Amino acid sequence: MAWRTVGKKGIHASLTQALTAVSKDKLLSTSKCSSKSTTKALSTSFRHLQGFGINSVICGANEDFYFLDNRCLIRSFHASPTLLSRRKEDASLGLKISERGKVLNKGKFSKRKKEAKPPVETPYLPPKLKRGAKSSSDKTIEIFEGMTIVELAKRCGESIATVQHIIVNVGEKIDSEFDPLSIDIAELVAMEIGVNVCRLHSDDGAHVLGRSPVVTVMGHVDHGKTSLLDALRQTSLAAKEAGGITQHLGAFVVGMQSGASITFLDTPGHAAFSAMRARGAAVTDIVVLVVAADDGVMPQTLEAMSHAKAGNVPIVVAINKCDKPDANPERVKVQLAAEGLLLEEMGGDVQVVEVSAINEVGLDKLEDALLLQAELMDLKARVDGPAQAYVVEARLDKGRGPLATAIVKAGTLVCGQHVVVGAEWGRIRSIRDMARKVIAEARPAMPIEIEGLKGLPMAGDDIVVVESEERARMLSEGRKKKFEKDRLTKLEEERPKASEEEEEEDETKPERVEVPLIVKADVQGTVQAVTDAVKNLNSSQVFLKVIHAGVGPVSQSDIDMAQACGACIVGFNVRDPPSSIALAATQAKVKIKLHRVIYHLLEDIGNFIVEKAPGTLETQVAGEAQVLNIFELKGRSKSKGDDVKIAGCRVIDGRVTKSSTLRLLRSGEVVFEGSCASLKREKQDVEAVGKGNDCGLVIKDCFDFQVGDVIQCLVQVNRKPKFVSSESGAVRIEC
Ligand code: GDP
Repeated sequence: MAWRTVGKKGIHASLTQALTAVSKDKLLSTSKCSSKSTTKALSTSFRHLQGFGINSVICGANEDFYFLDNRCLIRSFHASPTLLSRRKEDASLGLKISERGKVLNKGKFSKRKKEAKPPVETPYLPPKLKRGAKSSSDKTIEIFEGMTIVELAKRCGESIATVQHIIVNVGEKIDSEFDPLSIDIAELVAMEIGVNVCRLHSDDGAHVLGRSPVVTVMGHVDHGKTSLLDALRQTSLAAKEAGGITQHLGAFVVGMQSGASITFLDTPGHAAFSAMRARGAAVTDIVVLVVAADDGVMPQTLEAMSHAKAGNVPIVVAINKCDKPDANPERVKVQLAAEGLLLEEMGGDVQVVEVSAINEVGLDKLEDALLLQAELMDLKARVDGPAQAYVVEARLDKGRGPLATAIVKAGTLVCGQHVVVGAEWGRIRSIRDMARKVIAEARPAMPIEIEGLKGLPMAGDDIVVVESEERARMLSEGRKKKFEKDRLTKLEEERPKASEEEEEEDETKPERVEVPLIVKADVQGTVQAVTDAVKNLNSSQVFLKVIHAGVGPVSQSDIDMAQACGACIVGFNVRDPPSSIALAATQAKVKIKLHRVIYHLLEDIGNFIVEKAPGTLETQVAGEAQVLNIFELKGRSKSKGDDVKIAGCRVIDGRVTKSSTLRLLRSGEVVFEGSCASLKREKQDVEAVGKGNDCGLVIKDCFDFQVGDVIQCLVQVNRKPKFVSSESGAVRIEC
């Protein structure tokens, strides 16, 4: 190890220096004893330097040398007393002594205590980077199986030595920088350096086959997305097998007579779609854009269109509610075309299908259109090799633990494999298809439910198959640390920004109040969607901080956390908490807001925000008076103060109060502003004078009244923000 610290160059330099110092003459003149000790020291040291031809040099130098063995026995070359004295002489003469040499000499005399430590199982410890690697949490590099250290170092923007150092610390052996690395090790190294990774899976030599499309339904609120999914789910394979009884599991497959099938993601809306995309999960192949025939294109229709466009995902339009008497599909088509959607019947390539989700009309046409679109896209996936899959939803089951609904994108996921899912890991205990049948393996585009994870993953998390439990633990631990590091970096980055913004803000603006929230929902996809929707209500006055978001009903630990942080609990689609939990919440003064309709939840939170908001202080005109006459009191005594000018006024609007600030206006321009020194009505001091009454007014330090001037009475009012909801269902907080 010591040699590694010194480095090859250092060793070489020191050796040369020493050899020059221990010249033949000097060696001859030294006493036998000292020669012996010097040589002994030298030979021992050289023993560690394989291939160094020192033996012959020294051996040939003097026959009087005592070589106990032809193999050198010198233990510490630099420790030779001759050399040390020589180095001291050099130093005193002002000659440079290499720092490395110094370190070595120092090492010789500092006693090292050898402590006998029992062998321990070493957990994954992040190595310290040789040079301060900046956390570049925004940088993403592509990694692949078999990439070399050189390639990885180049992509990470780090030196090869740093990457090698990390690999050694991870416990991997390296012989050369051109050694191929496993993709997991490459990810660990990248995480340690602080960059994000995108795993590339090669399809070279693999068995590639056509696969079913994965479809997401999006559109404006109330246009019938859920109804359409419900109707489609009734035609799903699972429903057919279970006699029409279906359950929301995050995804389902609809089989066609031709043998083809379509996989539908069962979470409507673009919130889940974008949340998944934000996590790098490009699961959706086609978007079904639902537009109500009686309502037309609405704000969320446009949002859905831009999400699909941003994800480069083709759209198939489903004009729903065509059964309604006021349905006007043609108007919808014109609106869509006006928004830049190139519809098929207008010469473009976007298919439009007219449906009625309630009456289950047109569903087969929609399915055909989706299959046609899929055919055009020529969807293919690698069938063999390790699976590449994504979580679409996750939930906690009391008996079975964390369950994740996932879609395999490529490869085959096999029961018993060790996997890393987002930051969680586990060994797949069982795989079930959407009909709840246990299967041994899952192939591309197949929605499955996996059991055996140690923790609950998030929608959009990738599922990575790893070779062993140890590797799974290591990767999961590494990812957790990276996520935490990124979270802290983000917080740190936001903090100075926030304070800068605060500084820039007007002084009258109140501080931003932080309202901690705990979000609970039925499934992971909804947790994500609710969390995002709630965060959208953040305003300049109130900042909703989701301190915890999880799946399942409100539990005692949620109450404890809420009490500790002063948080409010928001539950969406979760059952009412048992009476013991409700009682605990009441005792802990923790508010629980349970809803089943997202709009109601947002409205409730919106009103809560308004209640919590400190509001902004605003100056308002409470009353106006007109100057009709001017009275001057001159030559007053010292005790009574200086001369004063009294404005004889009539209140023409609102009220004029003594405690307020008064503003003097002449021809609409502000001439003076100051506090009220005196307000009298018929020689009586009064606090306020109402509209239509005459009064005498003195403004402190103001002597410039003119008949016809207007005096405004200014008051400070605290204006609270407003919760605003538009007809389209969009909600916001207006400050
Ligand atoms: P989402 O918010 O887009 O998921 O909309 P929903 O599926 O919840 O539907 C909103 C309302 O529209 C519900 O009252 C449905 O019954 C109704 N609805 C949905 N599809 C149809 C349809 O095809 N015809 C008619 N007449 N009503 C529909």
